[in-house]
Amino acid sequence: MPGIKAFMTPLGLLQIAAYLPSKWEIRLIDENMHLATDADYEWADAILITGMHAQRKQVDAINTRAHSFGKLTVLGGPSVSRCPEYYPDLDIIHMGELGDATDKLIEYIDNSVERPADQIRLQTIERLPIENFPIPAYSLLNLREYFVTSVQSSSGCPHQCEFCDVPGLYGRAPRSKQPDQVIAELNAIMDHGGRGPIYFIDDDFIANPKAALNLLSSLVEWQHRNGHKIEFICEATISLAQHTDILDLMREAGFMMVFCGIESPDPNTLKAIHKEHNLRRPIIESIRTINSYGIEVSAGIIFGFDTDTPETSEAVVQFVRESQIPLLTINLLYALPNTPLYYRLKEEGRLVEDPNRGSNIAFSLPYETVLGGWRKCLHEIYSPHNLLKRFLYQTVHTYPNRLSERKPTLADLVMGTRLLGGILWKIGCRSNYRGEFWKVIGPLLRSGRIEDVLHIGFVGHHLINFARGCVSGEAEPCFYGDPNRSAFNSSYSRNLNR
Ligand code: SF4
Repeated sequence: MPGIKAFMTPLGLLQIAAYLPSKWEIRLIDENMHLATDADYEWADAILITGMHAQRKQVDAINTRAHSFGKLTVLGGPSVSRCPEYYPDLDIIHMGELGDATDKLIEYIDNSVERPADQIRLQTIERLPIENFPIPAYSLLNLREYFVTSVQSSSGCPHQCEFCDVPGLYGRAPRSKQPDQVIAELNAIMDHGGRGPIYFIDDDFIANPKAALNLLSSLVEWQHRNGHKIEFICEATISLAQHTDILDLMREAGFMMVFCGIESPDPNTLKAIHKEHNLRRPIIESIRTINSYGIEVSAGIIFGFDTDTPETSEAVVQFVRESQIPLLTINLLYALPNTPLYYRLKEEGRLVEDPNRGSNIAFSLPYETVLGGWRKCLHEIYSPHNLLKRFLYQTVHTYPNRLSERKPTLADLVMGTRLLGGILWKIGCRSNYRGEFWKVIGPLLRSGRIEDVLHIGFVGHHLINFARGCVSGEAEPCFYGDPNRSAFNSSYSRNLNR
């Protein structure tokens, strides 16, 4: 996309940056955009880092580089909070959320930026109440360089899916911000050039349905006041379909997509992984309900559960066909440290450390069968013909159900025109699936549905290319763990050496 350099704003860093003393000078570097330079390291007194398990090697690389400049390093965030043992070389580790550990960290750095002789471990015992979170420091980034700006309205999830580390990290009792607080954050995004879409990164947007309703009423008013400029995206359980009052307001507030962790179409699997909440209503029926409010469902699917059979791949393909969901993230199961799944598999002696595998689990089926099923599924569902057919369904059954108040801004029009040109040239003229493309896009263009053309062209092209990479073995089958990162690491080193 013209001018876009990264997918989503790094909200954790923005939040911490806002909490640090105002007299501290902060330079925020998102290495999704560009790597920190030698001059950055020389300038800093201390280097504060965050990362997920999948970024472990990058965290270590940053740490080594900072130490080569003699700088104090601090690591916080989800990976170190669950697995402090992964990071013995950091000077200070901050475990848990924003809270008393953060205050101790600030006190330490205010007194000294000398590297300690031994690692210092700070653990949050008392969290900062979410209602007291400061507005994230959006001013530190150029928001126009991001495809999506992120915001958080709640934290925690009441469910306990076996593979998930969210309840362990953020608790099972959902905590919600006040609507005014969220509105102030949205205003800050707009003031600093954000133009959407805005993604609510809450673990489950409807974890507290009453709080979600209150927030949505404020979002509707905010959109009315601001001319419906922004589209929203969120994550929620598929039980959202049972809350038609929430769906009504989501439609009015401009939600265009919701990500649901469906994980598997097999009821036995959902029971086995303690995801019974997906079984309250037939999943396909729930998806249709959500679509009827103009909201496209995107879904997470996992391969490698103990209940999988050699037929699982075909069952998932059948489910995708029936659900008509265009965008799915499909991963191999990975046992994240300190989750119920991890402890069970450890007990059963089924954790494997093999950098050549895309998962750390000895599946009940042979690894090659699971990997082959995953590849076959991606090949099938992301063939241009099948993917565009599902998008076509959305153009008839979902997108027309949206309220049409949204008026594109001048910036939208400029961006849209440039993007349209790119899509028509790159896909419509030069791609090897242009025949399929025109069958779907031609009628939409003729009827002036430019937003749909942009969405389908852009997202579809990414998915088709991504799936081709997966099938040819270039892309990794799991995004969450710490699998073989050699491809990533060599590109990281290449960038460093530039
Ligand atoms: S997978 Fe989703 S619903 Fe399940 S525990 Fe994690 S965040 Fe909650």
